Amino acid sequence: MKEKQSVKELQSYVVNPIVCSVKLDANEGNKDLFKDLVKELGNDFYLNVYPDDNYTDLKKAISDYIGCNVENISVGNGSSELLDLCVKTFVDTNELILSLDPTFSMYSIYAKIVNSRYMETGEGSDFDIDVDEVIESIKKNNPKITIICNPNNPTGTVIKRDKVLEILKSTDEIVIVDEAYMEFGEESVVGEIENYKNLIVVKTLSKAFSMAGIRTGYLLANEELVKTVEKVRPPYNLNSVSAFLATKALEQKDKMLAYVKEVKKEREKVYNALLDMNIKAFPSGANFVFFYSDIKDLEDKLVQEDILIRKFGGKLDNHYRVTIGTKEENNAFIVAMKKIV
Ligand code: PMP
Repeated sequence: MKEKQSVKELQSYVVNPIVCSVKLDANEGNKDLFKDLVKELGNDFYLNVYPDDNYTDLKKAISDYIGCNVENISVGNGSSELLDLCVKTFVDTNELILSLDPTFSMYSIYAKIVNSRYMETGEGSDFDIDVDEVIESIKKNNPKITIICNPNNPTGTVIKRDKVLEILKSTDEIVIVDEAYMEFGEESVVGEIENYKNLIVVKTLSKAFSMAGIRTGYLLANEELVKTVEKVRPPYNLNSVSAFLATKALEQKDKMLAYVKEVKKEREKVYNALLDMNIKAFPSGANFVFFYSDIKDLEDKLVQEDILIRKFGGKLDNHYRVTIGTKEENNAFIVAMKKIV
C-alpha cells in the first residue's frame, strides 16, 4: 500500500527524544501552575459518556477570559488541530498558504498534507518581520490563507497590532493569527474578530497556562467563519478530561498572569546574560529566547550538563531556542553556558 504523493514527500516534525532534567526545548510552562486541578476531577467525573460536543462550559470560560461571545469560539485538541482544521476548511490542492520567514514549521506540514503550495516571506534584518514585504507578497501571490505567528516561533519577534491589521486589510482571503505565545507579548488582535470578516485567531492553553499535556486550544473568529470551520471539526474532538481541566484553569487567570509576569522578568535575565557572553540573542515577546552561536556542538555540550534546548538546522544552522523555565532552570542554563563559552 502506497501513501499519497504529498505524504511520501513529507518530512515529519521531529520531537527530540533526549531526556534531560532541565527541559527547555519545547516552550512548555511551569509544571506546578495548575497541577492541583487534577484532584478536582473527583468521584463524580464519569468517563463513559462522550463530551458535550458544544463544549458549553469551556466556551463560557473562554468567552469570559477573552471577552467575546461563545459563538465566536471553536475548541480543539491543541491549537495544532485547529490550524490543521483551518487548512482543511479553506485550502484546496495547489492553492497557496503564505507565512512568515522563518516560522513554526508545522504550517508547511499542514499545507503539504492537503497538496497545497506553501511559501514564506518577510524576513527582515535580525529576524525582524518586514511587514511591507509580507503585504507585497500577499498582493502578488493572493494566498488562500496567510498565517501570521505572533509572537513568532522560533524567533520571538512581535509584530505590532496595527501592522497585523494592515496585513488583514491587504487581502479578502483568510488571515490566521497564531497567538500561541501572545500572553507573553502585548499585541493581540483578538478584539478585532468582529471587525474583520477574514480574521481567525488561534490560541492555546499549552504555553502561558502551562497545560501542554491536556492538548487544548481554541479558535476565535466571527460567527460565520466559526460555523464554517465547525463543519469540518470531528465530533468530540476534545476529550472531556481536558475540557474540564481547561475550564477550571481559565477561571483562574490571575494565576496565569502572575506566572507570565515572572517569565517576562526571567526572559530579560536570560536575554541579557546571553548578550553579556557576547552571544547574539534576539529580543523576544514569547516564553523563549532565540540566539545565534557558532560554538561547536553546543546542544550536545548542554546535554552533558543535563540541559535540553532546541537546535535549528538548514537555513537556521547555529541558531538555538531556549525556553524560559523556572528561576533555577534558567540559572542552570546560564551557568552551563558560561562554562561552555
Ligand atoms: N503554534 C505555535 C506557534 C507553536 O509554537 C505551537 C506549539 N509549539 C503550536 C501552535 C501548537 O500548540 P498546541 O497544539 O500545543 O496548542
